Amino acid sequence: MSDASKGLSLYNTLTRVKERFVPIDPKNVRMYVCGPTVYDFAHIGNARPAIVFDVLFRLLRQLYGENHVTYVRNITDVDDKINARALRDFGREIAAGKLSLNDAIRKVTEKTADQYHKDVAALGCLEPTFEPRATEFVAPRADGKADMLSLIAQLIERGHAYVAGGEVLFDTASMPDYGELSKRNLDEQQAGARIAVDAHKKNPGDFVLWKLSTPEEPGWESPWGRGRPGWHIECSAMSAAYLGEVFDIHGGGLDLIFPHHENEIAQSRCAHGTKVMANVWMHNGFLQVEGQKMSKSLGNFYSIHELLETETFGGRTWPGEVLRLAMLMTHYREPIDFSVRKLEEAENTLRKWKRAADLAPAAARELPADVVEALSDDLATYAAFQRLTQLAGEAIEFSGSGENAAAASLKAALAFLGFDVGAAKVDEAAIAEAIARRLRFIADKNWAEADRIREELLAQGVQLKDGKDPVTGERVTTWEIRR
Ligand SMILES: [Zn+2]
Repeated sequence: MSDASKGLSLYNTLTRVKERFVPIDPKNVRMYVCGPTVYDFAHIGNARPAIVFDVLFRLLRQLYGENHVTYVRNITDVDDKINARALRDFGREIAAGKLSLNDAIRKVTEKTADQYHKDVAALGCLEPTFEPRATEFVAPRADGKADMLSLIAQLIERGHAYVAGGEVLFDTASMPDYGELSKRNLDEQQAGARIAVDAHKKNPGDFVLWKLSTPEEPGWESPWGRGRPGWHIECSAMSAAYLGEVFDIHGGGLDLIFPHHENEIAQSRCAHGTKVMANVWMHNGFLQVEGQKMSKSLGNFYSIHELLETETFGGRTWPGEVLRLAMLMTHYREPIDFSVRKLEEAENTLRKWKRAADLAPAAARELPADVVEALSDDLATYAAFQRLTQLAGEAIEFSGSGENAAAASLKAALAFLGFDVGAAKVDEAAIAEAIARRLRFIADKNWAEADRIREELLAQGVQLKDGKDPVTGERVTTWEIRR
């Protein structure tokens, strides 16, 4: 297909309509998603954007090619609570100059960041292309990539920020269309603001870019004094560092639209002088647990880790892929009610699909087009899942000879969607024998027989790879399992 849109439509929060997606550069489709603050273990609300945007990442790779999508998901490790912990645990080393603040933060967030990586891997998410940490983007960098201090300096220079009351603040009045993402206007924001607290601000809606630290508090050196950045500036820096000043898709949870994403847009556009920061803004809906808002005080606050490894939710542990399917059974923009019943339903569905997929020795080479089509309609996972259920029915009813095509297609679709369909069972000796036979046919220039063997192996899920021995120059054939 020459059309760069590839039939993909996405709902854009910026315009409030579903739009045909056309990337800026189809050779490098660029997406940024706000990642977790690694102060605590991630809760199941954090699992939703990780899973939703993983599906979009997979779909973009399918449409534009695996090497033509750049997905950045940051780690927020600049945070007052993390700073306080670093000070508590390593204050003396930091004061004595034995440990940098960044290194202390690295130590206190090591466990939570590791756990996050384990959690999202268990949920079947691919690793993003880049996963920058905020601490590494505070000060100007040796590699010249965008950083927070330079962005703030740029905003001051262009008349979009000012210094007042120990802070550098973004001047919202300097940006005529500030508020376009959340559709709030400045008057509305000012009406609700607490004027007394914000006396040093020109406008109550002005937000912090840099905040001075007291001598006791941790901080980074800056032209405006030792301090720490506001929350929003990190994503403006890290997205520009890896994706450029304008990129294709910016994602995150609905709760981030205001103020976080609104302020990211203000910072990035005003610092770079661009009309947009990202062309498409996508937000996943809220998550409730058993019909209630998740909160620590209600006692219904669950970490991903607890659901995976402990029996605190529904009296049992849950496989990551069951959590994944349960999360995707609701359209990403809808609110989701996370419940034991929903997890049980997901588990039953997954069991049926897998039983049917197991009837094929290997996944089909082509993904079912209607599954890709369903997902291309603003990630209509429900429609895609209906097709999987249909394929499962066809696979089980199949009684002919030869390949069970429905099962093979189902297997391909499940693997694509991040569900574990298991590797094909292989007989290594038989493969080695087949490879040797094929090499003899190649030596005899009997290409048809050589190809037939390759195709036979592929039908069993074994992919051959021909290469050359770097020393002898002889043909060497290796193999791998295609899932
Ligand atoms: Zn962000």
